[in-house]
Amino acid sequence: MIKHEIRDKNGGTRTISLSPLKAIRYQCLECMGFSPSQVVDCTSPLCSLFPYRLGKDESRKGTGGQGNAEALLKYRSRQGKKDQEAI
Ligand code: SF4
Repeated sequence: MIKHEIRDKNGGTRTISLSPLKAIRYQCLECMGFSPSQVVDCTSPLCSLFPYRLGKDESRKGTGGQGNAEALLKYRSRQGKKDQEAI
């Protein structure tokens, strides 16, 4: 994440933390007059930002959120030992 100054819908500017996907999302909002529904309904599928206009990477859908169960169990085990050592 980087901090960057962008235009806002009131004609001013604001500084926000941006990831690459957020940057695309804000660009699309600005492109469509800050109307989220118009970004959804964008009619320019040949625009290079089109697949990312909703702030999500559809190619990564379903990868994540599950976590690594084995790593979680190891972490909890280590934490349990630390808790017992502290007693
Ligand atoms: S994808 Fe659509 S809304 Fe986003 S920059 Fe391109 S034309 Fe504008």
